[in-house]
Amino acid sequence: MSASHIASTPCPVCGSQAIEPIARVDGKTGETLLTVNCSACGLGRIDPLPTQPELEAWYTHRYRQDYKQAVSPALRHVLRAGRNALDRWGWLQTQLAQGVGHLPSSAVTLDIGASSGEFVDLMRQRGMQAHGIEPHAGYAAHARETLGLSVEHGALHQVLPRQADQRFDLISMFHVLEHLVDPVETLRLFARKVSPQGHLLIEVPNATRFCAPRYMFFRAHTLYFTQASLHQTLRAGGWSVVAHNHADDDNLMVLARPAPDPGAAHVPASWQPGRALIEAQNRRTWPAYLADQLRSGRWLRKLRQRQEEKQAVRGVSSARSLLDALYQDELRLPGAPAATSGGCSQPACKPWRR
Ligand SMILES: [Zn+2]
Repeated sequence: MSASHIASTPCPVCGSQAIEPIARVDGKTGETLLTVNCSACGLGRIDPLPTQPELEAWYTHRYRQDYKQAVSPALRHVLRAGRNALDRWGWLQTQLAQGVGHLPSSAVTLDIGASSGEFVDLMRQRGMQAHGIEPHAGYAAHARETLGLSVEHGALHQVLPRQADQRFDLISMFHVLEHLVDPVETLRLFARKVSPQGHLLIEVPNATRFCAPRYMFFRAHTLYFTQASLHQTLRAGGWSVVAHNHADDDNLMVLARPAPDPGAAHVPASWQPGRALIEAQNRRTWPAYLADQLRSGRWLRKLRQRQEEKQAVRGVSSARSLLDALYQDELRLPGAPAATSGGCSQPACKPWRR
């Protein structure tokens, strides 16, 4: 057990400054970047955490080039994102069918960080009044103009409070929570924007999953979740988890409803600290990674998936016609692998191939 350290900035969920370092390097750039485990609640975060204005300035800088040019996502990206949307919708349907809640047939939905709009489009095609918010100007323009969707451009903290009277039956947020610096405030804002019977559907990367030693930690991700710390964060934000996937899955999926007494939910009776992030990082050695790649055949599956995606979009004329075929006919080529884990679609993580 390492000695605990004191963080520069407090944990944005439990407020503690007691930490244990997990990693000291940005996996994408090689620059110095301290990632720490909160000794009180087990949330992972970079330290110091940027302030909200610093975070927005960083994203503005990252996105600047895309403000100047039209953005047109590769059809392969649209296909993969569309399949992820189908998987997420399927997961939600399965949970609702098991009686954890109900979504009206003409529900009002909001997808936060809508990226190029595939989930919003699926919701619309399933009869919902579907909306989205996307901070990247090019992505938002693509969703609006190419797909004809109601996707507003802007940061969620600017756009959402403006929609004063609007209540949503479903708020979804895929691979966004790990980019925030104020997760609890954001979740409390959602709790005020959801209808009384409404739901919140969240997916984040599982920060305990096995990967290459330097793959997991980089600046675009400010927060790192285990299943336990994700559920604690939701409770702190005024939500009750009603369904979730497996703690070992590559991505963590959670369906939540507003807590009966949100005030009481803000401070859990006892935080459950954990060292799962540190133990997971200790397991990520190069020999273990190479052995896993050979044993699991993961690299081969990825290669085959890419080839299949290239084939599937051959002859397709536009993102619109691709999504229509996918969502109306459940387009799956013979032998095509089902979309597996939906990766991070945020532009800061994975720029589109053009
Ligand atoms: Zn904490």
